[in-house]
Order: sequence, then C-alpha cells, then structure tokens
Amino acid sequence: MLPDLRSPAPPVRLALDKAALAANWQALDRLSGAATAGAAIKADAYGTGARRAAKVLAEAGCRDFFVAHWREAEEVLDLVPQGSLSVLHGPMSAADAVWAREAGVRPVLNSPSQVQTWLDAGGGLCDVMVDTGINRLGLSMADLADERLSRLEIDVLLSHLASAEEETPLNQQQLHRWEEVCRSLPHRRASLANSAGIALGRDYHGDLTRPGLALYGGVPCAALAPHIAQVVRPEAAIMQVRNIAAGESVGYNATFVAAAPMRVGVISLGYADGYLRCWSSRGILRAGDRVLPVLGRVSMDMTVIDLAAAPDLGEGDWVSADYALPEAARVSGLSQYELLTLLGRRFVR
Ligand SMILES: *Cc1c(COP(=O)(O)O)cnc(C)c1O
Repeated sequence: MLPDLRSPAPPVRLALDKAALAANWQALDRLSGAATAGAAIKADAYGTGARRAAKVLAEAGCRDFFVAHWREAEEVLDLVPQGSLSVLHGPMSAADAVWAREAGVRPVLNSPSQVQTWLDAGGGLCDVMVDTGINRLGLSMADLADERLSRLEIDVLLSHLASAEEETPLNQQQLHRWEEVCRSLPHRRASLANSAGIALGRDYHGDLTRPGLALYGGVPCAALAPHIAQVVRPEAAIMQVRNIAAGESVGYNATFVAAAPMRVGVISLGYADGYLRCWSSRGILRAGDRVLPVLGRVSMDMTVIDLAAAPDLGEGDWVSADYALPEAARVSGLSQYELLTLLGRRFVR
C-alpha cells in the first residue's frame, strides 16, 4: 500500500499574526472616520496568503474586498460575504462578465469597452474606476460624457491616488477631480483612499477606503506608524550546524571570512523563497531577541547565519527573519510592497 501521499511540511514557513492583521484593519477602519474600510487582498493578499487573510478580515468585520484578477476572486469566494468582492482589472471579455454575474462578483469597469462588455452581458450592479490623474487603469474624465454610463447600476465609484504617501499638489488635484466625478455619476458609495490616502484626512475618505499595504504591516507614511503592527515573519529551520576555523570562508564567492573560530547554522531560506541576495551579509535572523546575522551570500535554498548569540540552538530549531517592513525596506532597498509580494511559494502559509 502507498503511504499517505501528503509530503512532510517544508522547513520554511510564513508566520502570520492573525490578531495583528485584524487589529490593523480595525485601526484603519477607525482612521477612516465616517467611511468604512475595505481590504485589497489582490496578489495573494500581498503574499501573505489570500485565503487565510480573507478569513481573518471577514471575521474582523471587513465587508468589501478587492482583488485584481478573476482567478483571485474565485480563490476566496467561499470565504467572504456574498456580494462583497470586486475585481479591479474588470471584464476583458464576455466570459469574464458572464462569470462575474454568475458568481455574484462585481467588476470594476475601467474603460468604455469594459462598460460595453458589461452591458452586453446583461449588466447589473458594478463598480466603476475613473482616472483622476494616475493615468493607469480607469475611465478618463472625458469618458464621463458617454451616455452608456447612465445605463449602469454603480455601487462603488472609485478613483486611485498616485502619491498619497507624499505631500504633493497632485493629491488635491485628484481630490477635486474625484469630487467632480462623484457629482456627475450616480453611485451608491464613493471610494478614493488607499492605505496612505486614509492619513490624508476626511476629505479623502468618501464612503469606503481601500487599504492594502497597511493591513499587512506596511507603513507608507509616518502618520500611520503608531497604528500598524507587523503581520508576517518568514521563519526557517536550522538544517545543519558547523564549526569553522579562523580564515575559512562561507558561501558562494567566499564573501565572508571568519576572523575567529565560529559556530554557524545553515537555514532553509533562500532567494527562491523571496529572501533575496540583497540580504547577503546584511540580513538578521532572530531567536527570541537574540540576533543571528547572515554570513556571506544568500543562496537559492539556504542561508548561513552566525549562531554565536545562541549557543543552545541546534539542528531542527527555528529562527525568524527580521522583516518589520519599514526597516526591512530601508536595509534592502526594496519597497515594502515588493518585500511582501515577492515572498515565495514554498512557505507554508
Ligand atoms: C492595490 C490597490 C489599493 C491598495 O493600495 P495600498 O497602497 O496597498 O493601500 C487600493 N486601490 C486600488 C485600486 C489598488 O489597486
């Protein structure tokens, strides 16, 4: 007989602090004032695992979820309240529109052709994105005169800020255009602010805010820092411990050379997991509050760390990567968004 075919769990996992995720949503909902906070859970909830994030957020009280792709909607459909999901990329084909109607998922209509596709499929409750200055996806201000828009039944009327985390006149300009859009298109709920937009104040809140990054522990602007807690932490097992002599090197290209005898650990975490080479000789792993620096190059499946601060740690013990996003972004040179979304597929989530 075949054994149970499910293989043993891998020695690398992405710890998710569910309480912190729920608390971040609640804080952002509070900071949204009279508006309600939704949640952007696209890109596998920014790499944290869309199914578990959706579950936690729905339990915390979130009632509006945004994904980018139709496949991402399908993935969480059974976990969120009926009618609470929107697909930001909208219907690119008749098949998309048909699926949306059958699944009870709202398309975000972004162009005259998407409006036509939706009407051709029979229409129904939808969301509409209007571009007020980012010049990415969305109807242009000129498109608002299109008579077909009057045949739509619009729930959420969206626009998206280009530079919400900065102090720039573009924010005000987008705000004024958005107010004009809201006056000219009938809708149930208006939505402008992403995470950083929430910190711009009540004028930007409308009826519904759409945080993503800050839910998952990202801090786009200083004003949000006191309200946001770290949510994810990569963790890996020590696979081997070795003692090296002074003068010996560690890893590819021998970029680290021991000045004295050392006890080092080889952990199951590498750039294929999203722990990129930018952490070489720079990253920090931790065991409790003990600091275990990365030695030499990060390789595809493993990284070597200094175990001097943790003489009790051995093979099979777990360590966690320093991954507080604002600081990790500063050290790595990557954006907080990238640090989340590049987390690899091998993690147990
Ligand atoms: C991704 C996204 C958001 C969330 O933005 P954050 O900066 O992560 O808070 C909100 N709205 C739209 C349209 C998005 O694409």
